[in-house]
Amino acid sequence: AACLLAACNGGEPEAQKETPVPSETEKEGPIKIGFSMDTLKEERWLKDRDLFREAAKARGAEVEIVAANGNDALQISQAETLIQRGIDVLVIVPHNAEATAAIVHKAHKAGIKVIAYDRLVKNAAIDLYVSFDNEQVGKLQAQAILEAVPKGNYVYIGGAPTDNNVHLIKKGVLDVLQPAIDRGDIKIVYDQWTEDWAPENALANMAEALKANNNQIDAVIAANDATAGGVIKALEAQGLSGEIPVAGQDAELAAVQRIVTGTQTMTVYKPIQNLTTQVAELAIQLAKGEEVMTSVSVNNGKTEVPSILLAPTAVNAGNLADTVIADGFHSKDEVYQEA
Ligand code: BGC
Repeated sequence: AACLLAACNGGEPEAQKETPVPSETEKEGPIKIGFSMDTLKEERWLKDRDLFREAAKARGAEVEIVAANGNDALQISQAETLIQRGIDVLVIVPHNAEATAAIVHKAHKAGIKVIAYDRLVKNAAIDLYVSFDNEQVGKLQAQAILEAVPKGNYVYIGGAPTDNNVHLIKKGVLDVLQPAIDRGDIKIVYDQWTEDWAPENALANMAEALKANNNQIDAVIAANDATAGGVIKALEAQGLSGEIPVAGQDAELAAVQRIVTGTQTMTVYKPIQNLTTQVAELAIQLAKGEEVMTSVSVNNGKTEVPSILLAPTAVNAGNLADTVIADGFHSKDEVYQEA
């Protein structure tokens, strides 16, 4: 079943109001933004959902949110429903970078502009792409781990190959590691994607990496905090957690707590609020038919997509207070409750 807003947010009353299909004459009211999300699995996407709704509301727009639980066919049919319900602009977090091109075609046929949110849609003429600099995410991870472990056996636990970010992150990681690989200082002894970003898949892959290398692993770079959590469980099972540096991404609360207790070395913090406010503003501009200016563009296989890439920040035990806590991303109490 489709996860329409009421279902996605635990059924808050304000979300339950029915949106009738508008006739042309009713098109006058507030701008309606459709927000098609892949998943609400990782903690970050709940923030994205809530902050995006707030940002749109604060600017006088209405937003209707759907989430597809990692199901491509469902994401497409949910987007069709949004289009039929008369949204003025569509914001999409694609589960699958290629499959969602179909949605863009349908929206454009209906005269609706499309923004790719956080993840690029490939091979479709999307109107705008707003994300964090994902190559930089990978670079920050690799720099931190290389500093901690300049020589040794590395494991790379990637994300879901259907997510374009995953390839950008890996490129950033390899850009930084390559000179050390060429010198023979480090060796990537295991390198695997994580199907659907599932922590249990990351755990299984890490267990395999440990086994294949007789536990002779010196460092792990995981594509996000959820997969880092799986990696750390696999290390725990071998009595190695806290012994081997692990990098992640997202500054999830559990990861930040692991940084405090010492089982995870670093994470990459991406202030979600910067993304939601930018996208809410730009979505409204596009809905009004206004020109949107960006300073960069990204080729998605079809066009040069006008793009905005926000800056991520490396976070470790040393700068937690000045970053995620200072920003109120997590409170000090939450972060230290387990420590
Ligand atoms: C996002 C990450 C997230 C991952 C899994 C990526 O596209 O950029 O922040 O952890 O998807 O949902």
